[in-house]
Amino acid sequence: MSRQQWRKLILFSIFLAMPPLFFWYSPWHLWIGARQGILCGSGLLFAVMFLSGLFLGRAYCGWACSPAGIQEAWCMVQDKRLASQRFTWTKWLVWLPWMAAVAVAALQARGFQEVMPLMDMDEGLSVTDSHGYTCYYSVLFIISALCLPLGRRAFCHHFCWMGPFCTLGTWVQGALRTPSLRLRADRDLCDGCGECDAACPMSLEVAALVKSRRLRHTDCVLCGSCVDACSRRAIAFGFGRPDPVG
Ligand code: SF4
Ligand code: SF4
Ligand code: SF4
Repeated sequence: MSRQQWRKLILFSIFLAMPPLFFWYSPWHLWIGARQGILCGSGLLFAVMFLSGLFLGRAYCGWACSPAGIQEAWCMVQDKRLASQRFTWTKWLVWLPWMAAVAVAALQARGFQEVMPLMDMDEGLSVTDSHGYTCYYSVLFIISALCLPLGRRAFCHHFCWMGPFCTLGTWVQGALRTPSLRLRADRDLCDGCGECDAACPMSLEVAALVKSRRLRHTDCVLCGSCVDACSRRAIAFGFGRPDPVG
């Protein structure tokens, strides 16, 4: 199997494991826990996502996220690029008020005094009753209702409350210019064929980024689809500091 087939198999397998893991992705549980001074499993996962962003960019989003699994599966039905990147800021309208509510709740509870990774889980499982399944299928519905009409990974672009943690990690990494996983581009090898644009699940203008010699983008999830699509090997994975702008 190719690298991309393995990646999609990993994502889809993690998606199938989503019901038991569901509370680990839950914005609601982070808030409920914060009100009681408890840092629950989703808070721990979001902290790990931020830390991974410091060293691995958004590779979590490319390789290890459950909702990414169903989004890439929907591409087998509706594989169109996102029409516009203009409104991808909408996810911050979800993230910012939610994080503000969590911060207020934690302050009122005088901080997180207890860590409880399995909070509200029944023997370590998240979705075990009709209420849990209603929440789970509601999230699947939101993901599907965005991806089918709007295109690839529309939930990531417009709604996801989790991706911003990885993004913040990459911003801190970029500000500190510390080494991390990244893409490297050689624009002299690029013939402008556009295969990387066609392959990118995040609908990025990859060829233009290659030509700019600055193959770095907030929405790049380091999936490697462009690396594998480029027959001229103009794009490669690397680990190190950002290239100087040239
Ligand atoms: S943006 Fe959200 S849904 Fe998309 S891959 Fe990242 S964490 Fe998963
Ligand atoms: S696939 Fe490679 S050669 Fe084609 S546009 Fe992209 S970087 Fe350039
Ligand atoms: S630019 Fe390349 S590595 Fe980044 S999301 Fe697009 S295809 Fe994946």
